[in-house]
Amino acid sequence: MSWSEKYDVVIGLEVHAQLATISKLFCGDSTVFGAKPNTHVSPITLGHPGTLPKTNRKAVNYAIRMGLACSCEIEKDNYFARKNYFYPDLPKGYQISQHTTPICKGGLVRIKTDNGSFRNVQLNRIHLEEDAGKSIHDLDDHYTCIDLNRAGTPLIEIVTEPDIFSAEEAYQYVTEIRKLVRWLGICDGNMEEGSLRCDANISLKPKGSNKLGTRVEVKNVNSIRNVKKAIEFEAERLAAILDAGKTVQQQTRSFDASNDTTFAIRDKEEANDYRYFPDPDLAPFHLTESFINSIAAELPVLPNELQEKYQNELGLSQYDAHQLSEELATSNYFNAVTELTDNYKASANWILGPVRQWLHEYHLSIEQLTLAPEKLVELLKLVDEGKVNFSVCSSKIMPLLIQNSHSTALYIAESLNLLQVSDTSEIEKWIEEVITKMPDKVTEYQKGKKGLIGLFVGEVKKLSKGKADPKIVTDLLEKALQK
Ligand code: ADP
Ligand code: MG
Repeated sequence: MSWSEKYDVVIGLEVHAQLATISKLFCGDSTVFGAKPNTHVSPITLGHPGTLPKTNRKAVNYAIRMGLACSCEIEKDNYFARKNYFYPDLPKGYQISQHTTPICKGGLVRIKTDNGSFRNVQLNRIHLEEDAGKSIHDLDDHYTCIDLNRAGTPLIEIVTEPDIFSAEEAYQYVTEIRKLVRWLGICDGNMEEGSLRCDANISLKPKGSNKLGTRVEVKNVNSIRNVKKAIEFEAERLAAILDAGKTVQQQTRSFDASNDTTFAIRDKEEANDYRYFPDPDLAPFHLTESFINSIAAELPVLPNELQEKYQNELGLSQYDAHQLSEELATSNYFNAVTELTDNYKASANWILGPVRQWLHEYHLSIEQLTLAPEKLVELLKLVDEGKVNFSVCSSKIMPLLIQNSHSTALYIAESLNLLQVSDTSEIEKWIEEVITKMPDKVTEYQKGKKGLIGLFVGEVKKLSKGKADPKIVTDLLEKALQK
């Protein structure tokens, strides 16, 4: 019997997203990734006595963006607190955070559930805080090395209620958060570089019970797949504890990606008392209604809204609509194309098909595409008007048009002699040739093997070197074969 028949799993996620500001949360030090260790460490980052931190306005703006996009309530009166603890990568002895007074309260994130429908995950809060430095254990045989470049970079922590009910939902949730922060331009979402990190809180309760069980917390999982694996492993481990009649201890654990397991790092009883108090060096800050409104006015249309519009107003499939609203740049491109043509379905097919393949092949992003929306529409029209078939158009004309952005699709088609022949007398000549060449097949067809039509069309296509308009060919062939 699997554990899921006996227990419900309940999950709450804490996602840290590094904000894409140029400078740190409380000083001008650069936040660039991969710099030489300990080169972006001013006295403020190091917390030297007498230094005065100042809040980065952009970081506040970004946190509010995320809050508005998740329908949070925005707190107008804010301050930062010191969370006191000692750790080698935290030389100040405290982290500046907004533990009890988050800038964004409540809110929701829409996710796809296991059965393919959508539902909202309730957020508890989104708050601002600074990151710590990095301890590097594998660089030296005897010492741990500390790089403080990351100390003080701005993070938002997005905390859910215990409102996620499977490992797959957790996967969907983090995927959604990653998409959203990238869409809003507030975080690059790069999990390998640690721009997005996730702590997963997991508990089990007897099936149907409404009392939450004791949770364990798996810290700093650094890929979306590992979030899922960590939860799967923990659920199974907790079930075994409960099955054995023991009680779960509240614990902090870490994920071991080398074998997809978790191990304990500390028990909750040993937890620090952080002695939070308002940071005396940082002035509280008040947000006016008009400041918040100005940020709201700059927000792009959100992916969920776009997806609905694509489905309901443009008649796209759920799959296409979803794919086109995955990334802001892709949807911007699609929107620009649909300003110029009503053939929404073909626009989606072009972008999700040949254009995407081409970008993939050359390792480019859609921002680097040198095919202007009006050029894509030229291609699309060549096909719609029956002048060139889709596969010739996408494989032969599109790449040339991308490289010669001042040319036109029609000019390329003409100069390569790719325009489809819709001249019936020419097509009839090819048909005649095919019919004479295959008398046996013709008899079979006439006796009722209608599926052979595909073979004849194919032969005519070959003779025409792909230029005969297949619709006209089929019509004429059907007539000719009846004779
Ligand atoms: P802490 O400050 O110790 O991290 P919080 O109360 O802020 O604790 O909760 C952290 C996360 O744990 C939240 O995402 C919350 O939803 C989740 N959580 C709390 N209780 C449970 C539980 N019993 N099972 C699963 N998740 C839980
Ligand atoms: Mg926590």
